[in-house]
Amino acid sequence: MKRTVIIILILSLVLSMFTVNVFAAETSAPVYLKLSSNSCGADGTIKLTSSAGFSRIYIEWVGIPGRWTLKADGNETACGINGFQHEYVELPKDVTEAEFFMPEGGKIYSVSAFPKDGKPLPEEIEIWEPQPERADVLVIATHPDDDILFLGGAIATLAAKKGWTVEVAHLMGYFNKTPVREHERMHGLWTLGVKQYPQTGRFDAAHEGYRLYSGEWKGFFAITEYVTELIRRFKPQIVITQDLGGEYGHIRHQRLAAAVADAVEKSMYPDFCPASSQQYGTWDVKKTYLHLYEKNKIVLDLRQPLENLGGKTALQAAKDAYKKHVSQQSGWFYVTDDPKDPRADEINAAYFGLYRTTVGYDTGNDMTENTVSYAEQEHIAKGKELVKSALESKAGKLLEFIRTKQEGGNGI
Ligand SMILES: [Zn+2]
Repeated sequence: MKRTVIIILILSLVLSMFTVNVFAAETSAPVYLKLSSNSCGADGTIKLTSSAGFSRIYIEWVGIPGRWTLKADGNETACGINGFQHEYVELPKDVTEAEFFMPEGGKIYSVSAFPKDGKPLPEEIEIWEPQPERADVLVIATHPDDDILFLGGAIATLAAKKGWTVEVAHLMGYFNKTPVREHERMHGLWTLGVKQYPQTGRFDAAHEGYRLYSGEWKGFFAITEYVTELIRRFKPQIVITQDLGGEYGHIRHQRLAAAVADAVEKSMYPDFCPASSQQYGTWDVKKTYLHLYEKNKIVLDLRQPLENLGGKTALQAAKDAYKKHVSQQSGWFYVTDDPKDPRADEINAAYFGLYRTTVGYDTGNDMTENTVSYAEQEHIAKGKELVKSALESKAGKLLEFIRTKQEGGNGI
């Protein structure tokens, strides 16, 4: 009985996706996929068929799936390796039939597929990169949508910089409360141009209120432990988070900002939150920005066209990204960089202050001032290595030349 319900649900979700979505003409159009009548069989498989052929498959899972296998054209592809909720799989060539060997409890929220027709995929298709071992920028937001409303302009600006990695982490996770917000979170960040898969919030939003107030989360110190772990794990050069005043006074925003402010002062000491220092080592963040922070203020220019977003500005990208948070549209919230906005003091997405720095103060409005991306650092190091080996090789050849000359001379 339950399985029948699931099958109908999946079918209707898939069907609605293909009827609702409208893609730009120049991008690849999704093929119509038929699910087999026993679409989620007793053996936990789903079969997709399309006489038109497909090879580029995009799946949104209900939760984070475990490992699963895609079987097509006699080949098996191991999937689910990165633990992505929104997953893209590409087969070597078009097939008319593919079978999903599902993970235990794995449920598909939606699936779309495209032929190998040489056209780019619609921009809504999310092809995430794994989380980096070290991120240039770590952005920590309380709820999915705070990252967009208050930090979205900064995120889009930094994600647009060539070679810069931006890892976004949330405090609250919604899988047990309003799972659609996890999908909205991904859609929003993708719209900002983020490519690194974001970190899901560790704190269960279903218990957000009473656990925070009852002290079950160690009187908020659990939040400090969490952000300290994030800092040590991702080794960011720049950390960006919310307002100490909680933007419009939201207590969880205040707690997060206070925890980050505390963590960046102490994450370099192994005795502070020792579990994460033992796991990842200690880390000292170069620059930490807080939203709306009054000291060392900068005002971001969110109105420059960004190449990676097809000329869209960071402001427009953040506005578009907020629309992806469909479940949150009933409130008064909006993205603005207008200093004359009546709520500018609470929400202006361009206002930040440098809370802490180990590399000097800013002279302009560029958060990356006095830092070099990890990719560029590697590039410079490689260049130096090449020069060094070239010099060594030249010096070696010269020495060899002198030696042979000397030996030749001695022989006369
Ligand atoms: Zn919030």
